[in-house]
Amino acid sequence: MNTERSKKLFEEANKVLPGGVSSPVRAIKPYPFYTGYANGSRITDIDGNEYIDYVMGYGPLLLGHNHPAIKEAVIKQLSSGWLYGTPTELEVALAREIIKLYTSIEMVRFVSTGTEATMGALRIARGFTKKNKFIKIEGGFHGAHDAALVKAGSGATTLGTPDSAGVPLDFTKNTLQVPYNDIEAMTSSIEAYRDDVAAVIIEPVLGNIGPIIPKKGYLEDIRAVTEENDVVLIFDEVITGFRLAMGGAQEYYGVTPDMTTLGKILGGGFHIGVIGGKREIMENVSPAGAVYQAGTFNGSPVSMASGLAVIDTLKREKVHEKVNRTGDLMRIALTDIVADLGLAYSVSGVSSMFKVFFGDMPYNYQDALRCDKEKFNSFFKRMLSDGIFLPPSQYETNFLSLAHSQDDIDKTIKAYQRNLK
Ligand SMILES: *Cc1c(COP(=O)(O)O)cnc(C)c1O
Repeated sequence: MNTERSKKLFEEANKVLPGGVSSPVRAIKPYPFYTGYANGSRITDIDGNEYIDYVMGYGPLLLGHNHPAIKEAVIKQLSSGWLYGTPTELEVALAREIIKLYTSIEMVRFVSTGTEATMGALRIARGFTKKNKFIKIEGGFHGAHDAALVKAGSGATTLGTPDSAGVPLDFTKNTLQVPYNDIEAMTSSIEAYRDDVAAVIIEPVLGNIGPIIPKKGYLEDIRAVTEENDVVLIFDEVITGFRLAMGGAQEYYGVTPDMTTLGKILGGGFHIGVIGGKREIMENVSPAGAVYQAGTFNGSPVSMASGLAVIDTLKREKVHEKVNRTGDLMRIALTDIVADLGLAYSVSGVSSMFKVFFGDMPYNYQDALRCDKEKFNSFFKRMLSDGIFLPPSQYETNFLSLAHSQDDIDKTIKAYQRNLK
C-alpha cells in the first residue's frame, strides 16, 4: 500500500498544526492517511487507497458517508442562505421532532457541539438546583471543557484532579467521579455530598473507552437514587442518541433521565448539540431564566435542515432494525473467531457499536485499562493495511452504518480472522 502523499503532508502539517492534526485521536502513528473523498461505507485517501470505514467520523455517520437525503436537504438550505441571526421555522420543527421521540425532553436549546451541550446542561442543572457539585463516571467523556476533563485514578468519592494541563484544580474541585456499573459507589457519593450534588452525568453506554454496556438494573438504580436525593440525572447521549433507537439509550433501556444531551448522529455529519430536559428545568435557560447560554451558531439553519433529514431517513429506511441486526451478526462472528483461536479476548458492544477488547470483558474504566494496548496497536495497523479502517485506539468504539453491506461485513470478518491469528 502506497501512502507517500499522506506521509509528506503530515510532515508539512506538523509545522503548522500541533501534533499535525486538529483533534488528538486523529494522530495515528507514524502518520495518518489524508482523505480525498468518502462515499457510503468507504473512505479513500489521497494516494487512492480505499478502506472500509468503521470510524464513521467517530460516530455521527449512522447513515454512512455522503447520504443523498442529507446532501439534498443541506443544498436546499444553502440556496436560501446559511446564517441569519434570527429564529427559523426549522428549529421549531426539529425541536418538536426531538420532543416527540425523547420522553425526558419537553424543551430544547440547540448548540453546535456535544461539548457545548454537556457544559450547558451542567450549568443549567446547577442553576436549577442551586448546588455546585456533579458526579461523573470514571472514564466517561463529556467533551473537552474544564470541569469534565477528569477521568483517571481515584476511588469512589475522591475529589477530581484535572486530566489536562491548563485546568486549575479549583475548576474541578466540584467534579466527583465513581466507577461505572457500581451502584454502591454512586449511592455513597451522592449521600456523602447530598446537600451539594446538583447532577449525575453519565453515558448510558460508555462509548469513549470502547463500548461498555450497563449491567442489568444499573441505570434503573441510578434513576432511583438520583430521584430520592433530588439530584438531576443527565444522560449524555451524544453517542447513543438516535443510534441505539430513535429515542436513544433511554428508549432502548427504558430509563428516563431529567435531562439529555444529544449531538453527533442528529447532525448527519454537520455540527450540532442539543440540551434537552423537563420544562421546569429548561425554563431556567436565558432568556427565559437566569442561566446564561448563547451562541452565534446555535440553531444553525444548515444543521437544523440536516437534522430533520436525518430523523426522516432513520424512520423511512427503518435504519435501527437494519444496523442493530448487522451489529448482532458482527458480534456473534467475532465472538466465534476469538473462541476458535483460543484467545482470552472479549467482544463487547450493543446495537451498531462493537469492539474486540484485548483482555477480559470490561465493566468499567479500570477493567478496560488492563487490556493489551500494544497488541491492539499492531492489530490496528494490520487491519489498516488490509483496507479496514478501525478507530486507532483500544478505547474507541467501532461504528456500523446503514451503508455497510453484507460484502463489507464478510471482508471485515475475514480480516479479523487473519489478523487476530
Ligand atoms: C463526542 C462526545 C462529546 C463531545 O461532543 P463534540 O461534538 O465532540 O464536542 C460529548 N459526550 C459524548 C458522550 C461524546 O461521545
